[in-house]
Amino acid sequence: MGGTVKIAEQEAISLFKAIGAFLTEHRLSPDPAHYSFAHQVLSDPNGPLAQAVARLTDGGVRLMQQDIVELGGVAVPGRPITLPDPDHHSPDPAKDAAMVVARTEQQMSSFAATVRSIHAETSGFGRDLAASAAAMRQADPAAALDHITHLTGIMIERVHDAERRLAAAESETNALREALEEARGTARRDPLTDLANRRAFDEAFAAVPPNTPVVIALCDIDHFKRVNDEFGHAVGDRVLRAVGQTLASEGAEAGALVARYGGEEFAFLMTDIGVTAARTVIERARSAVAGKRFRSRETDMPIGEVTISAGIAGGHATDAREALYARADAALYRAKAAGRNRVLFAA
Ligand code: GH3
Ligand code: MG
Ligand code: MG
Repeated sequence: MGGTVKIAEQEAISLFKAIGAFLTEHRLSPDPAHYSFAHQVLSDPNGPLAQAVARLTDGGVRLMQQDIVELGGVAVPGRPITLPDPDHHSPDPAKDAAMVVARTEQQMSSFAATVRSIHAETSGFGRDLAASAAAMRQADPAAALDHITHLTGIMIERVHDAERRLAAAESETNALREALEEARGTARRDPLTDLANRRAFDEAFAAVPPNTPVVIALCDIDHFKRVNDEFGHAVGDRVLRAVGQTLASEGAEAGALVARYGGEEFAFLMTDIGVTAARTVIERARSAVAGKRFRSRETDMPIGEVTISAGIAGGHATDAREALYARADAALYRAKAAGRNRVLFAA
């Protein structure tokens, strides 16, 4: 018994010392709010809060006031939460990402708690209802019916409440997902090919000044399903990446924005260019892809010719993007029908 008390005492002392060291290390004043924050971090060293702090402080960085507030620590009213830190630099994207990850983890655990509590409430209702049905069989059916009506009313209210809470959790989750994409830098970039994604393309189109001549070209890999079917999805991914890089470097020379617009579909956006000059750019890109020789890295088997078809449409920045896109898509469709590996103008 005595030994157990001693160990608990030792642990308390070392926790107390660790809290002191934590406050000193992060230059936090010994206010109750800081003490409580440090206590939460250090008393559960593997918990989500401690992990978030570890990520943020990786590499010997001190916690900032904003970090603590965002991690759920309470600011001390009327006092600076941290002592001045001469080493603090401007925002760091890696740190932003760590913060979003920490917030996402907290969000996930609160989401899971919401779902658990809804589950507990609905199963509680099931039990109540079963008890009422049993009572109904034995005793006064009219009273039991009243009771069931009452329970049903409560249950409907609970279901509505649960729906409200789930909708709120869902919109918070969506906002966090966006913040996470921003923090990772993937909001406007396709992670497989490292090209601009559809969102970046659409935003770039929207940002073209009015009355500027624009040309868009849609390029789609021919019979790409065959590559996946014969060589597997991983090889398909590498071919996609290589085609994307080829198109991007051809596009870069012409000042075009090249995006991965969909699965195996790429789009070019060119401004201040006529359709004939644009066609030359796309034709060169088509020929560069067709001239590549792909082999499977694993088996060294030749993958065979990989080609693209393209449809080109020109207009002005004031035209609806959807209309221009539809015309380019129709031309692409005709290029496919005419035998693929070719570039056609929109009507
Ligand atoms: P078509 O010449 O008519 O365009 O024929 P296709 O086989 O290219 O066209 P289809 O639309 O039938 O198939 C497109 C294929 O592209 C199917 C899909 O699995 C594949 N694909 C789309 N995105 C990816 C990806 O990210 N990775 C891989 N490996 N395959 C993808
Ligand atoms: Mg295709
Ligand atoms: Mg396609």
